[in-house]
Amino acid sequence: MLGAAWGQFDLCGGKRGMARYRQIIVEGQPVGLLGLDDVFKDLQAQGRHPQESDLGMEMVQRLSRDNYIPPSARQGFALALTHEYAAFLNRAEATTASGKRSYGTWRGYPREQIPWYPIVDEDLCDGCGVCLKLCSVGALQPTDNGKVSVADPFACIVGCSSCANVCKPGAIIFPPRSILDAYTIKPPGRH
Ligand code: SF4
Ligand code: SF4
Repeated sequence: MLGAAWGQFDLCGGKRGMARYRQIIVEGQPVGLLGLDDVFKDLQAQGRHPQESDLGMEMVQRLSRDNYIPPSARQGFALALTHEYAAFLNRAEATTASGKRSYGTWRGYPREQIPWYPIVDEDLCDGCGVCLKLCSVGALQPTDNGKVSVADPFACIVGCSSCANVCKPGAIIFPPRSILDAYTIKPPGRH
């Protein structure tokens, strides 16, 4: 069961754990993973390319240290991780090209530490464009193949899920709202 990865780790277990948690779609199901961005950053620093044949399984192996990935699902994870790594590199390139953007804070935490943003299941998206008209912050963008992707995840307003509510095929997915409970309000000046 792919969804078994949800809740494999303690979201209340401290800032570091919260910052490293992220979700992706694996074979049509949202899956929470711990340490994904750390692995991506490592590979980026090594100049690794998503097209490398064994890279997907290498990522699966590394992520298995902190996450339970069922043996029967490893191929699916490898494929999803390869796509996700390619998207990560594209985003990094776009950020470098346009200068680093500031996303501000939420309850005193840097926005980039809050894992609240949509993921879009391209297999379900029918390209109707309703979500694009609705989202005023530019978090979503149309893709070349007539679908929608998440272009700027941290532009998404924390707690908003309007685009998911209007998406008839259910292609837009958010983490459970309860993950936000872990972020208690920080008094000003505390880091
Ligand atoms: S509302 Fe849903 S189906 Fe329509 S474009 Fe957006 S993600 Fe795709
Ligand atoms: S949840 Fe709201 S802010 Fe975030 S992408 Fe959807 S419409 Fe935009």
